[in-house]
Formats: sequence, structure tokens, C-alpha cells
Amino acid sequence: MTANAFDNIRIVLVNTSHPGNIGGAARAMKNMGLSRLYLVAPKDFPAEKAVWRAAGALDVLDQAVVVETLDEAIAECGLVVGTSARGRRIPWPLVDPRACGERCWQEAQRHEVALLFGREDRGLTNEELHKCHYHVHIPSNPDYSSLNLAAAVQVVSYEIRMAHLAQEQGTLLPPEPWDVPPAPSQAVERYYEHLQETLETLGFLTPDNPRQTMTRLRRLYNRVRPDEMELSILRGVLTATQNYIYHTNKRLEKLSDDEG
Ligand code: SAH
Repeated sequence: MTANAFDNIRIVLVNTSHPGNIGGAARAMKNMGLSRLYLVAPKDFPAEKAVWRAAGALDVLDQAVVVETLDEAIAECGLVVGTSARGRRIPWPLVDPRACGERCWQEAQRHEVALLFGREDRGLTNEELHKCHYHVHIPSNPDYSSLNLAAAVQVVSYEIRMAHLAQEQGTLLPPEPWDVPPAPSQAVERYYEHLQETLETLGFLTPDNPRQTMTRLRRLYNRVRPDEMELSILRGVLTATQNYIYHTNKRLEKLSDDEG
């Protein structure tokens, strides 16, 4: 049960500029027992510098999955955690690296987990961070808070290893019992599209600023973390709403035709 949890955890590096950091991240992961590296639109990969920095973790580098979009990298994941070197405008549920390691390890017993790392120069965008259930900040010197990318991967991966060891020693709580798996990221993204479309049809979303409302709704649903069955009920409510609007409009059209 426990050994496979490592295989359910993926480290996702978004838009990395320096291939040396990709190699460094691969090495950091392997040292801690992780092996699944996802690279979202890396600027320079494959590259000699990545190979050089990976040292004995070439296997992690060779198996790295390169994708074009973040959505592809996290599609099947039931838990998504984003790392951030600084606070953001809209607060998001926050965990410290220790709690992050524990949660990721517990959930990885059952489903896929993703940990996101941002660009060297500007981190993750707000839009990327809003796809996450939690944000994690590594406590650091407030006057110089940003770690090197591979160093940040090291700290977070280390905490996953600590959680694994705690479980072996019987000091980590088992995962919460639940009957249905959490909805994976791609299903939740489809739900948000459906929700936005329906709210626009209803005239609820203000056309000048739909994003702000959608961000708040994302935060709400990400806090609740609907399971697969709950999400399909929510989708059903949207479909029923759209059908109702469609048929009401048809009736009104017919009425005005009859009158005319
Ligand atoms: N200048 C960027 C920092 C990017 S550092 C910014 O202001 O956001 C590159 C990446 O390393 C970050 O996106 C994050 O994934 C990770 N990282 C660096 N320092 C971190 C910290 N203190 N806590 C959590 N993640 C950190």
C-alpha cells in the first residue's frame, strides 16, 4: 500500500527557463523516492545541462512527461497543490510544507496528486494557482524569500519522505474514509466551463468582470472538493437549468409568433 504512493505523486514544473533546474529537480526527487516529473512547456529541454545536474537521476529525466499545458499535466489528479514564494492578492487555503507532505502522502494512497512549481522569474500565474486546492509556502527569510526552483522541489519532496517515514512508524493518521474518489482536475475544469456558460446565459455574471466571480467560485468549490458523484449531480443541475431556459425561451417565441 505505502510504496506505491510514491508513484501517485507527480512534480510539475511549469515553463522552466533553465534546464539545469530541471536536472536538479530530478535529482532532488529521486533522493526522496519520487520519480514522476512533468514538464509544462519547458523553454529548453532536452538539454545537456539538465543531464549534467541530474547526476544519478537520469532515469527520472528520461521518463519526464513533456506537455503543452498545465491542464494536461494535472488532468487525472484529485489533489493539486501549488507552491508560491510570496502571498497573492486573493488568499487561498494555505498549508505549510510539513502539512503538505502529510496530506500528499495520505491522499497518494488512493489517487493521483500533483505539486506545482513555477517559473524562475515570476513563479506561477494567478490563473495557475487558482487550479490548486492548497498553496504551500516554504517559510524563508522575508527579505529574500525565493528559493532556487530545484531547492524548493527538494524541501517539498523531503517532507513527503518524512510523511512516508511517519506512516511506517505508525505516527501518521490514515487517509479519511470516503466512499467516492475526489473529482479529478479535468472533470472539475469542465464543470467550471459549464458553470460559467450557464451563469452567462442567466445574466448572472457581470460581463465586465466575469473572472473575479469565477475565481471566487473556484475557491469555493476547491475548498469543498466535490467527489465524482457530487460533481456529476452539480453538472446535472446546470444541464437542467439550461434545458429549462431553452424550453422557456422556445415557449415565449411561440407565444409571440402566435400573437403576431
Ligand atoms: N520570483 C518568483 C519566484 C520564483 S522561484 C516569484 O516572485 O514568484 C521559482 C519557484 O520555486 C516558485 O514558483 C515556487 O514554485 C518555488 N519556490 C521558491 N521559493 C519558494 C518558497 N519560499 N515557498 C514555496 N515555493 C517556492
